[in-house]
Amino acid sequence: MTNDTRSLYSQLPSIDKLLHQVDIQALIASYGQTFIAEHLRKLQEEARIIIRQEGSLPQWHSHWADELQNRISQQRKSSIKPVFNLTGTVLHTNLGRALMAESAIEAVSQVMRSAATLEYSLDGASRGHRDRAVADLLCELTGAEDACIVNNNAAAVLLMLATVAPNKEVVVSRGELVEIGGAFRIPDVMTQAGCTLKEVGTTNRTHLKDYRNAINENTGLLMKVHTSNYCIQGFTAEVHGEELAALGKEMDLPTAIDLGSGSMTDLSRLGLPAEPMPQDYLQQGIDLVTFSGDKLLGGPQAGIILGKKTWIEAIQRHPLKRALRVDKMTLAALDATLRLYQQPEKMAIEIPTLRLLTRTQTEINDMAQRLLPHFQAYYGEYYHINISSCASQIGSGSLPIESLPSVALTFEAKEGKGSQLETLAAQWRHLEKPIIGRITEGRLWLDLRCLEDENALIQALLL
Ligand SMILES: *Cc1c(COP(=O)(O)O)cnc(C)c1O
Repeated sequence: MTNDTRSLYSQLPSIDKLLHQVDIQALIASYGQTFIAEHLRKLQEEARIIIRQEGSLPQWHSHWADELQNRISQQRKSSIKPVFNLTGTVLHTNLGRALMAESAIEAVSQVMRSAATLEYSLDGASRGHRDRAVADLLCELTGAEDACIVNNNAAAVLLMLATVAPNKEVVVSRGELVEIGGAFRIPDVMTQAGCTLKEVGTTNRTHLKDYRNAINENTGLLMKVHTSNYCIQGFTAEVHGEELAALGKEMDLPTAIDLGSGSMTDLSRLGLPAEPMPQDYLQQGIDLVTFSGDKLLGGPQAGIILGKKTWIEAIQRHPLKRALRVDKMTLAALDATLRLYQQPEKMAIEIPTLRLLTRTQTEINDMAQRLLPHFQAYYGEYYHINISSCASQIGSGSLPIESLPSVALTFEAKEGKGSQLETLAAQWRHLEKPIIGRITEGRLWLDLRCLEDENALIQALLL
C-alpha cells in the first residue's frame, strides 16, 4: 500500500462517527439504526475500492448522508409502484390487469385489518371450506351448482384436469391448443396434471365426429379451450358447447371448457363486442367451466371453476386445492366485485374494467383537448404534439381482433430523430408516478382511455 492510499483511507470517516452526524441521525429516525449502519458499511466498502482502484476519495466524501438517501430511494424505486397505464391496453398483464372497484378495495382493507369469518360460520355450524360464501354468490349469479376458487385460471385448469382425468386422455381440438403469455400452454398443463392430451381435428376445422372417433376406454374428459388470444378465420369449423355436452352425456364422459376471460355479463348490451359467458356454457350442459378473476370479470387475480356439484366437491377435496387456494384478501375482493353484478345499474359504473372499456371516444377526446395545452407547455418546443384517434385493446387475450375506438396524445420529435422518442419515454418511466405509453409509427402514443384522473397526470409532469 502506498503512503498516498494509506492517507486517503485514513480520511474516511468511521461508521461510528458517521452514525453521529446530524443528517444521518435524521435518516436513522426514519429507517432505524440497523438499516442505516448496514448501508454505511456497504458505502464504506465501496469507498475503499475506489481509493484502491482510482487513487482518489469517492465523490460523496463530503456528503455521505445525501449519497445514502439517494441509494435508499433508488432501491425503493424497483419495488412495485403505481403507474399511469396509457398503453391503450385495458387489461395489461404486465401492469397488473384489472383495477379494483372501490367497494372491493374497502372490503380488502377491512379483512386485512381484522380477523374474519374465512372458515368460520357464525351460526355455529361448520362452513365446510373457505370458498363457501363466494361460491354461493357465484351460483346465484350464474346458475352453477357449485364453485371453487383458486389462485388463477392456470391453477383452475390444472386442478380441474388433475381431479377429473388423472392418467386419462383428454380430448381437445387442434385448433384450440392455446399458449397464453408467460408459458401457460394447454399441452404442458395437461402433462403437469397427469393427463394425456388427445388432439383431434385440424387447425382450422374440428367436427363432432373427430371427438367421437377419439373416444376409447381410456378417455377421461372432453374439453374445449376458448381461443382467447388468437382467431382462426376463413374456412373453419368448431364444435359448439351444446354438441360437446350432448356427446359427453351420450358417452357418459365429463365435459369442460377453459374460457380464459369469460364475462359475467352480456358485453354486447354495454355496446362492446360479445364474449362468451360461463353461464351460457353451463346452460348448454357443459359440466365444468373455468375462467380468470382479473380479466373481464374485473376482480382480483383468481381462477374460478363453476359446474356440477359432484365434480366441484371432488375438486375441493383434491390435495392440490390446498396448494392453490386463495387468501382472505382475494375472497373479499372477489365477493365485493361479484356483488356489483347483482346491481346491473351500478356494474358498468363501479367496476373499473367495464367503466374503462365503455368510455366513448368523444369523452376521451374531450379529455385530450383539455390535456393538450399542458403537454404543449412542457414539450411543445421539441415535439409535434397531436390529438389522434387510435384503437385500444381489451388485453389479456380477450377479444384479440376487436378494438375500441379511442384517442391519444401523440409526440413526434421535431428533429425527426427516433431516439428522441426513446429519451422521452425513458424520462416518463422515471417520474415519481411513471407514465407508460407506446412507441409506434415514429410517434409516442399516450392512449387516454385508462386515464381517469387528468389532474394527477398534470401533477406527475410537474414533478
Ligand atoms: C388467460 C388465460 C388463461 C390463464 O389465466 P390466468 O388467470 O392468467 O392464469 C388460461 N386459459 C385461457 C384460455 C386464457 O385466456
